Amino acid sequence: MPLCLFAATSSQGKLRDFRTAATTHSIAIDPLPGLAEIPPPEESGATFTANATLKAVYYSRFAPGELVIADDSGLEVDVLNGAPGVRSARFAADVGLVDSPDANDNTDVWNNMLLLQQLAGVPPEQRTARYRCVLVAARDGHPLFAAEGTVEGLILDAPRGTGGFGYDPLFFLPELSQTMAEIDIETKLSLSHRGRAFAALLARLEA
Ligand code: IMP
Repeated sequence: MPLCLFAATSSQGKLRDFRTAATTHSIAIDPLPGLAEIPPPEESGATFTANATLKAVYYSRFAPGELVIADDSGLEVDVLNGAPGVRSARFAADVGLVDSPDANDNTDVWNNMLLLQQLAGVPPEQRTARYRCVLVAARDGHPLFAAEGTVEGLILDAPRGTGGFGYDPLFFLPELSQTMAEIDIETKLSLSHRGRAFAALLARLEA
């Protein structure tokens, strides 16, 4: 019987990334049963690892005996000392530009506008950034393994492309000369920080 992991996420995009990374392993990834009814924990950690750990530990208590994985991810911009980092989803909300990350569909637009504003005048060579994802596996309220994945890029001074989500239209991949919002989904999955974190986690689980 294949190993089954329950993912503490209702995001179809994340599930697809995890499943793509798991295709070469005999591992099934399912959403945590009943996730929609479980009140989410406050993501109060100062790091991706802290947030992913608190989520994995919390949600694993709702599936006794099972392996539960949770992730936290975001954008780190070097010249902003790693911001928005763990506040990536709430970057604009934190300064009052939107009520909350889920209040309307324009959160990504406001987040990108704020990022452009904070990087105004910063020359291209100093606009280095990365997406980072930390994944933690837990069982019965105890963290077992953590793994992370990153993808390096540059922040443009104007959006390009219509694919992806979040900061993708500003996130430029120098090797491909395209933004994350311009590349096709297969290419994105092949280099996604989430896919890389998941592959690293699977290697640890299999070991
Ligand atoms: P979370 O892991 O769902 O909490 O993601 C936090 C935030 O980081 C998202 O709301 C996006 O703003 C940003 N983010 C994480 N991964 C990506 C990505 O692959 N593309 C674009 N933005 C991302």
